[in-house]
Amino acid sequence: ESVIVAIDGPSGTGKSSTSKAVAAKLGLSYLDTGAQYRAITWWMIDNGVDVGDPAAVADAAGKPVIVSGTDPSHPTITVDGVDVSGPIRTQEVTSKVSAVSAVPEIRARITDLQRSIAATAPHGIVVEGRDIGTTVLPDADLKIFLTASPEARAARRAGEIKGADVAATREALVRRDAADSSRKTSPLAKADDAVEVDTTDLTLQQVIECVVTFVEE
Ligand code: C5P
Repeated sequence: ESVIVAIDGPSGTGKSSTSKAVAAKLGLSYLDTGAQYRAITWWMIDNGVDVGDPAAVADAAGKPVIVSGTDPSHPTITVDGVDVSGPIRTQEVTSKVSAVSAVPEIRARITDLQRSIAATAPHGIVVEGRDIGTTVLPDADLKIFLTASPEARAARRAGEIKGADVAATREALVRRDAADSSRKTSPLAKADDAVEVDTTDLTLQQVIECVVTFVEE
């Protein structure tokens, strides 16, 4: 029997680490939807598309071919056959991804892709993002919404980046969440039937165990 788990929330709440570990533990596939939006953003920059121009972004939305590898112990992402796992994590992509992902044509394209990946996962899938429980997979078997204080999130994010400044990281993260929460098409939001887990004072291991327990219930 196939199980679909949606894990949403802002950045720095431990979504990726939690989602990968839960998928690995339960033998499910894993999809990082943020990586898909980052990949299409990377392609726009690489091809000289002005990401501040929604019409230009919409025109190019159908061009790049994005492929996600869904093994939780080795997730991959390619654009037109090129592995972009590294380049999609740069500060440039991070600062531009909210603008690109707010364009409805981009969301429509990526949402279709996400639904087809979820529908063909052999044993089920853990899908992490911002609008999975509300828009992409409203019939998911379990919906989790992860939160944490901005301080905790900034400290975690800064810890992942060499030489990062916590205050600057916090500012960039709050700005990105505000943009993601205020866009018109499927903003970052908690589904009414999602379970909210505040991870501020929890270890990653505790969050993983908590989600696994919910799946098994
Ligand atoms: O999760 P991550 O930080 O990699 O996501 C990057 C960006 O992709 C988010 O800030 C948001 O703009 C966009 N995104 C989205 N919908 C999703 C997942 C990510 O709009 N389901």
